Amino acid sequence: MSSSSSYNPPCAACKFLKRKCIQGCVFAPYFPPEDPQKFMNVHKIFGASNVTKLINDVLPHQRQDVVSSLAYEAAARVRDPVYGCVGVISSLQQQVDRLQKDLDAANAELIQHVCNGMPVLTSIQPVTPAGPYHYVNRTWNRQNGSNSHGNAGGNGSAGGSGGGWWWW
Ligand SMILES: [Zn+2]
Repeated sequence: MSSSSSYNPPCAACKFLKRKCIQGCVFAPYFPPEDPQKFMNVHKIFGASNVTKLINDVLPHQRQDVVSSLAYEAAARVRDPVYGCVGVISSLQQQVDRLQKDLDAANAELIQHVCNGMPVLTSIQPVTPAGPYHYVNRTWNRQNGSNSHGNAGGNGSAGGSGGGWWWW
């Protein structure tokens, strides 16, 4: 109804193939006129008739995925005529392998730290306390709110009960 008055530009495929873009054109939903390169790549690599066949061979809800896949493969083949998207896959696979090795090494190191570090962690004393630590009876106790000192970082220098040390 409204199509008779409004101008619909031909899809990228019909424009490239210099034919009339009729209503129900199989290419129109997937090759908009503003992206002519997409169809040019697909046509160059697969051929328009093969693309038509592939689109018609699948269910309507699968067509967008088919065209996306064809367009990706075609663009990769245009960019890299020898390897196409295999080059991209291979590069990503190498990246995955490298990251997997890094992850394995990090996990091995972590396990080693956990296994070897247990006795060390229980015996070692903190070198630079991150907050108020109270040295009483040769043990370190992190001060919390329920301590007899009772304040949250105010006049700590007055602490001297039992001959302990205070760090702030
Ligand atoms: Zn068309």
